[in-house]
Amino acid sequence: MKKFKKLIWAALAIEIIVLIVIIVNSDVDNMTLSKGRIDNFNTGWTITREDCSSSKIKSLPYSDKSKAGEKIVLSNTIPKKYSGMTMSFLSADKQIRVTIDGKLVYEFGMNDSRPFGKTPGSVTNFIDIPEHLSEGKIEIEMVSPYDNYASNITGITISKRDTSILNLLKSNLGNFAMCIIILACGITLFMLAFIQAFSRQTKDGISYLGFMCIFGTIYFSIETKSLSVFYGNQTLYSNLVFLVLMLWPVFMQMYYINNLEEKYQKIFYVLFFLTLTNVACQITLQILGIFDFMNMAFISHILIFMSGMAILFSLICTVRKSKDKLLIIEFLGMLFFIGGSATDLIRTYTIHIGDFGKFSRFGMTVFSLLMVFVHILKVIRGYSASIAENARHMEMEVQMIEEKNQELMIANEEAEKAKADAIAAANAKSVFLANMSHEIRTPINAILGMDTMILRECNDNEILEYAGNIQSASQTLLSLINDILDFSKIETGKLELVAGDYALSSLINDVYHMLISKAKEKGLALNVESDKNLPAKLYGDEVRIRQIIVNILNNAIKYTQKGSVTLTVEMSDMKLSDMPDHSNDSKSENITDKNTIITFRIADTGIGIKKENISHLFDSFSRFDEEKNKYIEGTGLGLAITKQLVDLMNGEIVVTSEYGKGSVFTVSIPQKIVSDLKIGDISEKYNEPSNKKKKKSTFTAPDANVLVVDDVKMNINVFKALLKRTEINVDSAMSGLEALDMIKEKKYDIIFLDHMMPDMDGIETYQNMKMLEDNPNKDTTVVMLTANAIMGAKEEYLGIGFSDYLSKPVQAPKLEAMILKYLPEELVQRTTNN
Ligand code: ADP
Repeated sequence: MKKFKKLIWAALAIEIIVLIVIIVNSDVDNMTLSKGRIDNFNTGWTITREDCSSSKIKSLPYSDKSKAGEKIVLSNTIPKKYSGMTMSFLSADKQIRVTIDGKLVYEFGMNDSRPFGKTPGSVTNFIDIPEHLSEGKIEIEMVSPYDNYASNITGITISKRDTSILNLLKSNLGNFAMCIIILACGITLFMLAFIQAFSRQTKDGISYLGFMCIFGTIYFSIETKSLSVFYGNQTLYSNLVFLVLMLWPVFMQMYYINNLEEKYQKIFYVLFFLTLTNVACQITLQILGIFDFMNMAFISHILIFMSGMAILFSLICTVRKSKDKLLIIEFLGMLFFIGGSATDLIRTYTIHIGDFGKFSRFGMTVFSLLMVFVHILKVIRGYSASIAENARHMEMEVQMIEEKNQELMIANEEAEKAKADAIAAANAKSVFLANMSHEIRTPINAILGMDTMILRECNDNEILEYAGNIQSASQTLLSLINDILDFSKIETGKLELVAGDYALSSLINDVYHMLISKAKEKGLALNVESDKNLPAKLYGDEVRIRQIIVNILNNAIKYTQKGSVTLTVEMSDMKLSDMPDHSNDSKSENITDKNTIITFRIADTGIGIKKENISHLFDSFSRFDEEKNKYIEGTGLGLAITKQLVDLMNGEIVVTSEYGKGSVFTVSIPQKIVSDLKIGDISEKYNEPSNKKKKKSTFTAPDANVLVVDDVKMNINVFKALLKRTEINVDSAMSGLEALDMIKEKKYDIIFLDHMMPDMDGIETYQNMKMLEDNPNKDTTVVMLTANAIMGAKEEYLGIGFSDYLSKPVQAPKLEAMILKYLPEELVQRTTNN
C-alpha cells in the first residue's frame, strides 16, 4: 500500500513539471478572451449645474455635493478613434441620459414604470459610441432623487463592447467566488441541520445560519452591479437589496435565541421585535409613497449593527465563562461579519458610489466558512454523542431484556412446577375418585342386595314402599358415582376408548332391558325400531356407545310424563376420513375395510327444551326448567359426558326440540363393519307386552349346589340372601386359591366367579380350574360376575370359556333366571307364585 502511495506522488510531481514547461513555452495572452485595450476616459470633462455654473474637472472620479432632483451635466469631446466602441461607468441611484453630437444614445432610470418607490438603483452603464462621429460632443445628464448622488462620478473607460463586458465580469471574479462560497456554506448548513434532525440531536437553529447565507448570497451578488450582464431588471435588484437587508437580522437573532443563555435571549427578543416592526413599517411607507426604501435603509443598517454588537457582547460573556473553543471561533466569525459590514456602511454614507459590499462580502465569507467549520464539528460531536447514547440505550435495553428473560424463566419454572402440581393434583383426584367410587360401590351393592331381600320377603306394604325407595335411591347413587368418575376421567384426558368387536343386537337388547322397567313404571311405551340391513357385528367401544344411548334414553324417560320414547337405529354411508383413529387398539382379525355411520335417534313426547337452552345443553352441570323438574333427579353431567364421548368417537350429536311437545336427540357414530352378516328384523321382540311381576322366587332347588367366589364378604352375603328362598346350597370362597381347593373336593352345579380379585382374578382362577387334574367340576357351568363392564365384555368372557356373565350389583330376577337357565331340570321344583 505504501508503495502505491509513493507512485501516486511521483506521478503528480511529473504532471506538475510538464504543466510548468507547457505554460512557460506558450503565448498566454493569445488565450485570453478579454484581451484588447481598455482606455481610461477621465480627463477633459466639464461639469455644468442647474444654476448654469460650470467648471472643469481635473480628472475622474469626481465627488461633490448636489441636491435631490438637481440636474448635473457632464460634457466632453470623444476622440474619433473611439467611434464604434463602448464607454462604461458605474452609477448609483441616479437617472442618466447620454447624448452624442446632440443625439440621444443612452438612457437609464428615466421613464421606468414602477408600482411604487423611486430608487433607480446602482448599475454599470454601457454606452455605445456611434460609428460616425461628427464633433464627438458628449453630454451626460444625471439626476438623483437623493442628495449628493448626482454629483458623484466614478472613472469612465472606453473599449470594445465585449472587452468591457468581460472586463466587468473579470473584475468581479473574486466577488462571484465569494458569493458562491457563501451559497455553498448556506447549503452545507441546511444539510447539517437536516443531519442534526435526522440523528435526533438537539437542534441549535443551524438552518437560521443557512438562511443568513442565502440572503447574503443574494445581497452580495446584486452588489457586484454586474448581474445586468445576465438579467437586466434593475428595479428588481434595487428593491431586493433593501428587502434582504430588512429581514437579514431576524436570522441572526433567531440563531442566537436558540444558542445563548436565557438572560441574553431577552436582548434578541427585543431586537427581533424591532426588526419585524421595521420590515412592516418600511414596506408600508414605501407602498404609500411616504418614504423610499433608500431613505429608510439606514434603519436596517442600524438593526444589523445592533444585532451584531449584541451577539458579540453575549459571546464575549459566554466565552469568558465557558472557554468553549468553538464559541471563540463563532465570535471571530461574527467579528469579521460585523467589522466588514460596519466598514462598508461608513463607506456608503461617505463616498456614495462604488462597491459598497467589498468588506462586508469578505467578512460574510469568513463568517460563513467559520460557522460551517464550527457546525460540522458540533454535528459530528452530537452524532457521536447520539451514537454513544444509542449504544447506552441499547445496552440498557439488552439488560432489561435479560432481566425480563430471567423473570420469564423464573415464571416459566414456576408455571412448570404449578403445571406439574396441577397434573399431580388431577391425578390424585382421579385416583381418589376411582378408589372412592369403588369403595362406595361395594356398600351400595350390599344395600341393594339387602333391600332386594326385604322386597322379596316382606309382606308389609309400607315397608315394601320404603324398600322400593331405598332401591331407587341406591340406583341413582350408583349412576351418579359412575357419572362423576367418567367426568373426572374426561377432564384429565384419561378417558380412552377401548374398541373391540360387538354385536349390535346385543347392544340394543342391553339398552332396552336396562330401561324398559323404568319406562313401564312411568307408564311410557319404549319402542325400538331398527333397520334390518344393519350390520350384525361392528368394531368400536360398545361400553361407551351403550353409555351414550342409555344416558339419552334415560333422560327421555325422565323428562317425559306421558306418551312414548322411541329408539330408532339406522345406518348411512360415510367417508373414510371420518373414521375414528383406533390405531392403538387391538384390532379384530375379521375386520373388513367397510365403514358406516350408525345413527341412534331417541325421540320422546316429553316436556321439550326451550330454544335458548339448546346451545347450553352440553355444558357441565347445566339443568333447565329447575322449578318444573324439581323432583327429577340429576346432576347436569349426563349430557356433558355424552357429548365428550361422541366427540371422542368422531361422532356428532344433534338436538331438535319443541318446548312442551318433545325432543329428538340424534347421535351419529362412525363404526367399522366386522362381518357382512345383517342384524335382521329384531324390532318385534321389543314390542311384546311384558308382565310386571312381583319380585318373588318362582322355584326351589334344595338339591342344587352352587359355589360363589368373591373377595368381598358382603357380596357373598347378598348373593346367599338372594338365593335363600330357592333353598339352593350356596358354598362360598373368598379367593381364587380357596375356590380351587373347594372345587377339588365337591361337584357343583353352577360356579359364580367374581372377575376382579386380588392375587388370582376370576379369569386366572377359571383357567387354573380347567387345568386341575382330578377335578369333578371340569364341565361345570361357570358364570362370571363383573362390576366393571356392566354387560359389555360378554363376547370376551364367552370366548375364554365362561358359560355366561352376570353384572354387579347382582339383581335377584337376573340371578334366578341365570340359575334356571343352567340348572339341570331334575333339580328344579317350580312353585306357582304371582
Ligand atoms: P341431568 O342429570 O340433569 O338429567 P343432563 O346433562 O343429562 O343432566 O341433562 C341436562 C338438562 O337437559 C336436564 O337437566 C334437562 O333440563 C335437559 N334435558 C335433557 N334431556 C332432556 C329431554 N329428553 N327432554 C327435556 N329436557 C331434557
